[in-house]
Amino acid sequence: MSEVQYIYDKGLKAMEDMNIAFASGKGGTGKTTIAVNLAYFLACSKQKVQYLDCDVEEPNGHIFLKPTIDKSTPAKVMVPVIDQDKCTSCGECSSHCQFNALVTLPGNVLLFPELCHGCGLCVYICPEKAIRDGDRGIGLIEKGIATQDIDFIHGILNVGEPMAGPLIQEVKHHYKEHHVRIIDAPPGTSCPVVKTISDADVVVMVTEPTPFGLHDLKIAVSVAKNMEKPIGIVINRQNGEFPPLETYLLKNDLPVIMVLPEDREIARHYSMGDILLQALPLYIDRFMELAVNIGRLLGKTKTQVAR
Ligand code: SF4
Ligand code: SF4
Repeated sequence: MSEVQYIYDKGLKAMEDMNIAFASGKGGTGKTTIAVNLAYFLACSKQKVQYLDCDVEEPNGHIFLKPTIDKSTPAKVMVPVIDQDKCTSCGECSSHCQFNALVTLPGNVLLFPELCHGCGLCVYICPEKAIRDGDRGIGLIEKGIATQDIDFIHGILNVGEPMAGPLIQEVKHHYKEHHVRIIDAPPGTSCPVVKTISDADVVVMVTEPTPFGLHDLKIAVSVAKNMEKPIGIVINRQNGEFPPLETYLLKNDLPVIMVLPEDREIARHYSMGDILLQALPLYIDRFMELAVNIGRLLGKTKTQVAR
């Protein structure tokens, strides 16, 4: 067995039962393209793969993986229901709600459902038992099987719904054991990103070699570093050198685990919703390299990769 094959096989082994999150400081870096194609590559390599799209405001992994959806479930969060007849306007609920979702008025309590985080404290605390559990729909969870038997799940947040976190949590409740779990995180560095990568074993940051790309990458890296996550960098659409990015990566000891060039053919197939590796198999080696490098990153932290 060649050394490359050996490292590759070990890399695949290291990925079993691991959460590999794909993140990016900004939208449009190609995060989903890389995540989808790694999922496809691993599935073609006889790995059991689960693809979890946690980019719930704009999930688009399904456009490429084209899953057959066999289950669709409404996602709900708890909201309090207040019986105004029982309420004495004591103000206990609103003074304890840390999200300012309740306002006590004389003879009335107002609820702002968009601010409510469903913690249930007000139900527990009301001395008159005037508050009970209700629920509110925030989106949909869809499950199915995609190409190459990839187990597929995504969340679709209702338009205008601010509570992405509970829907992401709901997607993650469907983790399948003994699978490589490829998790597509939302772009940016907000709470939904933190929620998504919180249990990642490794975070793959996809960036582009531009000033905007670097600016947002730095913020995203600082978030993942604060969470003590191993980070690998994918540079997408490389077109010549961009020294500020190279200097930054070197200075911060951030390994580049794959580079994809700027290629009109990649863009063309992306716009048609094709899986890159099906349309342009010349890039298979790049994804094998990515798999090996992720295995190495996991090996560093989990000591599972013999090198
Ligand atoms: S705690 Fe109960 S009784 Fe007091 S204001 Fe809130 S709903 Fe009304
Ligand atoms: S459930 Fe929690 S967040 Fe929602 S209104 Fe009650 S105390 Fe506030």
